[in-house]
Amino acid sequence: MLNIVLFGPPGAGKGTQSEKIIEKYDLIHLSTGDIFRSNIKGETDLGNLAKSYMDKGQLVPDEVTIKLLESEVAKHPSAKGFIFDGFPRTSPQAEALDKFLDLRKTSITYMIALDVPEDELKTRLMKRAKTSGRADDADPKVIQHRIDTYNRETAPVKDFYAAQKKYYGILGLGTIDNIFTAICKVLDKA
Ligand code: AMP
Repeated sequence: MLNIVLFGPPGAGKGTQSEKIIEKYDLIHLSTGDIFRSNIKGETDLGNLAKSYMDKGQLVPDEVTIKLLESEVAKHPSAKGFIFDGFPRTSPQAEALDKFLDLRKTSITYMIALDVPEDELKTRLMKRAKTSGRADDADPKVIQHRIDTYNRETAPVKDFYAAQKKYYGILGLGTIDNIFTAICKVLDKA
């Protein structure tokens, strides 16, 4: 299996690159943010709970997010592999994912981390707000909170994968195609 953690701050281009990767490598795309948003749209209990955190730019609690991710993976028993987009976002999530994959006799192949300067992230998110309809993209205070949360709670997850020699940092600037080519160079080593 090819299992990728696609990592990076909000606005780094994880969703855009995921679409290209799943097409080329025939993987299942699991974005915890997308799953939360579809629950919000469907007005489920999970959606109501997630919304109360997402609108403020806070992380949804680990117990809820881990359980959700595990049940989504279990829905695809014959997958060739997965792209985890926006998960793990905390050290406990990374540890839980390793344990869960281990039980299923598989593991993370690579973490691909997209690196983008903070000013560029803010510009991209404000632009995305015009079309995404996402409340968390529209408010500069919420954007700043998401970036701060990333730096404080999520960025350390890189070290977890670096210790396993699975971390690959890629500059997330330039054209979408050039960034994709850089990602493919890493994935084609698998
Ligand atoms: P995203 O679509 O990845 O930008 O995620 C949007 C929001 O969903 C985040 O700001 C969090 O509130 C929530 N979220 C998504 N993934 C996670 C996660 N792995 N852990 C906790 N919260 C998450």
